[in-house]
Amino acid sequence: MTRRAIVVGGGIGGLATAVALHRIGWQAVVLERAAELREIGAGMSQAPNAMRALDELGVGEQARAAGVPTYSAGNLRLPDGRYLQRARPGDPTPLIAFHRADLHRVLLEAVPAGWVRTSAEVTGIRHDQQTVTVAWSGGEATADLVIGADGIRSTVRRLLWPDAPPPRFLGRTAWLGVADADADAEGLSGSVTMGPGGYFLIHPLSRGRVYWAYVTTADQPGIHYEAEKTEAARRVATWHQPIPALIAATPDEAVIHIDICDLDPLPTYVHGRAALLGDAAHAMSPDRGQGAGQSLEDSVVLAAALAGEPAIETALHRYDAERRPRTQATARGARADGGRTTSTTAYRAMVTMIRLMPASLWRKGITADGNATWRWQPPRLPSPTTRH
Ligand code: FAD
Repeated sequence: MTRRAIVVGGGIGGLATAVALHRIGWQAVVLERAAELREIGAGMSQAPNAMRALDELGVGEQARAAGVPTYSAGNLRLPDGRYLQRARPGDPTPLIAFHRADLHRVLLEAVPAGWVRTSAEVTGIRHDQQTVTVAWSGGEATADLVIGADGIRSTVRRLLWPDAPPPRFLGRTAWLGVADADADAEGLSGSVTMGPGGYFLIHPLSRGRVYWAYVTTADQPGIHYEAEKTEAARRVATWHQPIPALIAATPDEAVIHIDICDLDPLPTYVHGRAALLGDAAHAMSPDRGQGAGQSLEDSVVLAAALAGEPAIETALHRYDAERRPRTQATARGARADGGRTTSTTAYRAMVTMIRLMPASLWRKGITADGNATWRWQPPRLPSPTTRH
């Protein structure tokens, strides 16, 4: 008998889960609160581990076509423009940059028609004998399994993990934007500029666009400025070009200002026939560029466990045992990295360390398997043709 799942949330994690479930022969519905299914926000990068997950989902090729290689890990600069490390022309780079909407679209195109329901807000969950029922704005739906992929402020987590603490503000804030710019121009192939108290990230995007983000400290969450673009520009006004030019080229209303939060580790990602996935389970500081990548990994591991275990509860426990240590270690590392890269005291030591590091050693660390997180290999999902 075909098994059915309800996926709560149609972000990158929720859509990847729908694709993964389709790969193993399940039926699913994705309930998305927003009236329109789209990924808001700006850009992101994906590392080799996430690209392997996309390959296993069967959309790696489409994703690579929608993204652009970025040299952000190879080009480290100081605010006056000097390079601490510099990628050589023709160097391979393991990172691919995406406009969020482009990666989201690649996944959406792989979700079977009719699976996604928008304006569908989930408000309740009830476990029955062998099934689980979800209350949503349009009524009720029952399935064998519910997956909460509803983001950092997850309703599924609030309902089933009532003791879990709310997201933690990390004392950091970020301005983000996408500017129209020639990605081949000098300084736009991807870089990180490290200043005292904050860093500025540049990723080239497809179709003549460039993503930028400035991450710095904030005493408290929720501080907003009348003109966010002016505030971002003021903070890096003396930094090297093309930083001020990129901010200037971004439409005022396209500049996003957000506070950085993450989740303290949960004791389990599974409750009965419900599982948390992506930011709902392990929202993390963006400093390792891994949040969405980990949700892609989650989706493949969950589907492989469901395909390999006849009992859903056993499969969910396998998912939890495999994903919790890795995602929580990544979140811990990202929290610590973010603390260091925005700390004025750690700044000088970090700059000295990077400057002293031989370029060959730096380059080795940024190859596809130069870092433990990037080396992850996905479990194999049954191929659509061999599935019965
Ligand atoms: P979300 O994208 O939050 O999706 C959740 C969805 O659930 C939403 O569509 C929401 O509308 C819906 N929803 C919520 N509640 C309900 C409900 N009750 N009923 C129905 N639907 C509901 N990650 C990377 O991999 N690489 C990067 O370079 C990177 N850069 C980042 C930079 C910044 C500044 C930030 C903040 C994050 C970055 N991330 C990055 C992390 C990444 O954005 C997230 O990890 C990822 O988007 C999480 O996807 P998700 O599907 O789990 O959650």
